Amino acid sequence: MKKAVIIGSGLGGLSTALRLSHKGYDVTVLEKHSTPGGRLNIIEQNGFRFDMGPSFMSMTYELDELFNSVGMKVPIELEELDPLYQVFFEGQKKPRLIYKDLKKLAEEFKDIEPNLEENAKKYLERAGHFFHDTVDKVVKTNFSNKLDYVLKLTRVPLKHLPYLQRNMWGEVEKHFTSEEVKVIFSLVAFFLGSTPFQTPAIYSLLNYTEMKHNGYWKVKGGMYRLVEELVKLLNEKGVKIVYNTEVVSVGNNNGKLYELIDQNGKKWTADIFISNSDAASFRGKILKREKFSEEKLDQMHWTLAPFTIYLGVKGKIDKLTHHNYFLGSNFSDTIFTSSISPQKPYYYVNALSKSEASCAPEGCENLFILCPVPDLRYKKSWEDKEELAQNIIDDLSKRVGFDIQSNIITKKILAPDDWANMLNLYKGSGLGLAHDINQVGAFRPKNKDEKLSNLYYVGASTTPGTGLPMVIISSKLVMERIENDFGALH
Ligand SMILES: Cc1cc2nc3c(=O)[nH]c(=O)nc-3n(C[C@H](O)[C@H](O)[C@H](O)COP(=O)(O)OP(=O)(O)OC[C@H]3O[C@@H](n4cnc5c(N)ncnc54)[C@H](O)[C@@H]3O)c2cc1C
Repeated sequence: MKKAVIIGSGLGGLSTALRLSHKGYDVTVLEKHSTPGGRLNIIEQNGFRFDMGPSFMSMTYELDELFNSVGMKVPIELEELDPLYQVFFEGQKKPRLIYKDLKKLAEEFKDIEPNLEENAKKYLERAGHFFHDTVDKVVKTNFSNKLDYVLKLTRVPLKHLPYLQRNMWGEVEKHFTSEEVKVIFSLVAFFLGSTPFQTPAIYSLLNYTEMKHNGYWKVKGGMYRLVEELVKLLNEKGVKIVYNTEVVSVGNNNGKLYELIDQNGKKWTADIFISNSDAASFRGKILKREKFSEEKLDQMHWTLAPFTIYLGVKGKIDKLTHHNYFLGSNFSDTIFTSSISPQKPYYYVNALSKSEASCAPEGCENLFILCPVPDLRYKKSWEDKEELAQNIIDDLSKRVGFDIQSNIITKKILAPDDWANMLNLYKGSGLGLAHDINQVGAFRPKNKDEKLSNLYYVGASTTPGTGLPMVIISSKLVMERIENDFGALH
């Protein structure tokens, strides 16, 4: 039986473990943290159960693909979000509801964007063509080298070329007139961990996936149910997951990797190794590759760092729905390269308790607040984290008309340094490497190592990219590489 060791139990690592064990590999997963799931994790505190990171998912058919590949149905229940979310603009009393149904959306914005339905239809049609022209040819495929990638790109119709010359903001400006609607359509850049000014226009395809294609879904019982089901299944298949075990270096290697070494000096041997640890920083920190030295990594474009607050609150906050955005006045780039905490940040609030009674005691709200902030390259110290959290809680209280501060039962704050230390996220970057044209496809760190023939990578910073559906696709792509190199075991 061939032995595989996977470094990390994020969704990428767990999905790969499932595929490998189904193919007859003897799989061990080494995890630095005390619980599985990586960013898709859980915090349980004083009777509240919080999803630590992801709160919704798109392209849910990738879950079908994963479980079907091992002869199963998806073992969790998904619920579509409708409306998708609501957005509170600074200085406006009423939030705007964002619907997939363009007629309803147009009605919601008829006072400021009279031609919304027609304009959105055109915008989404164009984004949809781009999505369908690239998803199989470029996103869901492995490349042998840069030339192969360029050849695959030449199969994408030339009409999409202008997309490469604009950023997201430029694209929404071409289609919409009101500032509010432009901001809303460019919020998807935030889901990619960046701003619309730095994100290429090609990612308007995410507007298509959210508003036309598959929508947004949450998991009944909370997002962590997915990890719980995956781990249960892996246990049944004999996969061993070893927690509190951090790979700190590699041992014997000679064109091939023979062993990994953990923080206690213990050696782990296998026939193949898969790193679910960040594909760029693993090459630098663990493999000591010059191309990925700290200096070079710092020059790469990383996604924004998360500043997250988990609040158990007594009482019900009527103005919140499951999924809420609170926009401040500084929807710009500069706050993310500053060494001071943002003063009027924009942030996202997930109120899981609106739809999941079991995640909070009766009569209480379970709030998860996510605010994008500068990473540790720009702001090294987060000693002021209580102050920033207070700033956000006060702002939120005012905007929803509820005194949150006096009703807090439990609170936890995770600043970028906490995220970095907990899960080895490079300088606290929340989603890994950003998706600029020069950091995607064959220009993203590869899923097969350049020097060690039996070392592979899966997850957000390798191909195709970040987000839950993308890391599931990543596990499929790495599996194809492994089968290509070693043949199917059965
Ligand atoms: C706050 C936040 C909100 C998000 N919201 C969403 C959302 O709503 N929807 C969505 O689709 N995506 C969302 N994402 C993105 C999504 O969480 C990630 O893209 C995805 O979970 C990444 O999975 P992964 O397997 O690549 O890596 P990870 O989840 O980071 O897993 C990697 C694992 O490897 C372990 N590890 C690292 N180095 C070592 C080592 N040396 N030795 C041993 N173990 C190691 C880590 O501890 C970790 O458990 C969000 C991310 C964040 C941070």
